[in-house]
Amino acid sequence: MRRKLVIGNWKMNGSLAANSVLLRGIAAGPANQNVTTAVCAPAPYLAQCQAELAGTAIAWGGQDVSAYAAGAYTGEVAASMLQDFGCRYVLVGHSERRAYHHETNELVAQKARAALDAGLTPVVCVGETLAEREAGRTNVVVCAQLQAVLDVLENPALEKLVLAYEPVWAIGTGRTATPALAQELHAALRKQVAVRSESAAATIAILYGGSMKPENAKDLLAQRDIDGGLIGGAALKAKDFLAITGAAN
Ligand code: PEP
Repeated sequence: MRRKLVIGNWKMNGSLAANSVLLRGIAAGPANQNVTTAVCAPAPYLAQCQAELAGTAIAWGGQDVSAYAAGAYTGEVAASMLQDFGCRYVLVGHSERRAYHHETNELVAQKARAALDAGLTPVVCVGETLAEREAGRTNVVVCAQLQAVLDVLENPALEKLVLAYEPVWAIGTGRTATPALAQELHAALRKQVAVRSESAAATIAILYGGSMKPENAKDLLAQRDIDGGLIGGAALKAKDFLAITGAAN
């Protein structure tokens, strides 16, 4: 039985004052013993997450990481720096990074590896655009995104990976994949991992992301291969985020 994992992706939202209200609201919510909960905040606010969440059951993480350990990479954040601020997770290859920062499958794979080497859990995001889905290329695109990561990881590191299937057409649009459609993709991803490692396939958490909300969370999270959620918009309100973690039993 895989433990459910619900991660909030704040994207580029927040302020010291707003985060304080949100973090306290989440931390004060009813703890769901069956679910691991985390928030991925903008890098400047990781110290605040550490101060507010240390000692609670809620973990925190970054939204991106450099593929490099240190050096002349202006603006980049190294995995060791995320570690310094107590991060457990880091998002890697979010579709907004792939689209706006031209991150390739290979770069995403290197970032996942850098995170694992530093003891962080990378949450590798994969997903197809609407054009790719309409062209019947969903499986080809998503499998290539995953394969690049599988190609650079060995067990036991591979078993620590978290995947997030996030159809790009569902992110921030209010359009959600149906539970059946999401389950089909999650099962395909798990099968692909199994070709490399049966034990990793059984262990790896595969999250669904794309307009998950309190109203649709239960049905999505009830699917056999959906092990949790990566939540954008609904993670910015403590009430909604807690309703989703509460639905993940
Ligand atoms: C995301 O940014 O990863 C995401 C899933 O966003 P939203 O929940 O707003 O669709």
